[in-house]
Amino acid sequence: MSNIYTLLRNFSHLGGSRAKLAALWLMHITGRRYIGVFIDSILACNYSCRMCYFSNEEERRKRSGAKMTEEQMKHVAQSIFRRALKLQIGCGAEPTMDMKGALQLVQLGKQHGVPYISMTSNAALLQYDKLLPLVEAGLDELTISLHGIHRETYQSMMGKNANYDAFLSTLQGIKKIKETYPHFDVRVNYTMNADNVEELADFDRLFADVPIDQLQLRPIRQIGESSYTNFDLTHVSECLETVIRPLAERCRAKGIIVLFPEKINIDRFAGKETANPRENLIALFTYINITPNSYPRHDIHFEEEDYEGYSKRVGLAKQIWRSIWISDAACAQIETTLSNSLNYEIR
Ligand code: SF4
Repeated sequence: MSNIYTLLRNFSHLGGSRAKLAALWLMHITGRRYIGVFIDSILACNYSCRMCYFSNEEERRKRSGAKMTEEQMKHVAQSIFRRALKLQIGCGAEPTMDMKGALQLVQLGKQHGVPYISMTSNAALLQYDKLLPLVEAGLDELTISLHGIHRETYQSMMGKNANYDAFLSTLQGIKKIKETYPHFDVRVNYTMNADNVEELADFDRLFADVPIDQLQLRPIRQIGESSYTNFDLTHVSECLETVIRPLAERCRAKGIIVLFPEKINIDRFAGKETANPRENLIALFTYINITPNSYPRHDIHFEEEDYEGYSKRVGLAKQIWRSIWISDAACAQIETTLSNSLNYEIR
């Protein structure tokens, strides 16, 4: 195999998602790290946010607090971490409900040389003494899920167990940790809806002395059954120029990156724009989602094979190669098959 960068240049004339798939194929066959491993070691949450399926009793019961064992986590790490570019802890549930498991995952990620380890949490249980060991073990990033800026909205959007004071205390812990670990990234994910978008105007007041690195603003979308049902994005869209963009400018001046959708993307989240099936395939080829429930029936047999063995068994290189050249309709077909076997929910 000649130099990978020369080959990548040769593929660049394909443009867009075809070029990305070609790059992916090259990374795959040359043994590079390119997958994102998304793990929920436990399926439980201390909160019951109204925009989340944890607010629905039946959905909550379905998740039932199932938990991965230490052995299972070791098997996953041995099997696929060598190919992981990123380890994401906490995707569809709250990882701090299993602090021991979260710490073990960070340690395993470090042992296997995963370059970036991230955790997503509501952060209410991540006081200074709980967060510090994770950062010391090698956690690179914490993403805080937030659905309200003002106390009342926070309490109402994040459910009856929501604890605004615990959240404020976590922010102070983060401030302290950042003094010792300035490269520890802190990101806030704010899910916008008609009832919480306006108060984003006060975001920088709430985070005035907390050194966060990134704010991601995402319009509400339906993930399973939830008690909040207003998915109309009209008001969110209206606030784009009056609230969101001015906030982004104020944050930029303080060195905080703000990611937010332009209008067209707001339309996409409202389902008014069709997605690109070839682009979607990239996500399906690169993200591996593991939960206590999916572990025993996962496409990858973690206890018996590594990622190379799995790829060989399913002909992954061939599948990626084919997806560069086939029609959009054929891509959509592969997308359905893959998302049925790798189905995951990201909050
Ligand atoms: S959004 Fe996150 S914090 Fe809120 S209930 Fe769902 S999993 Fe828990």
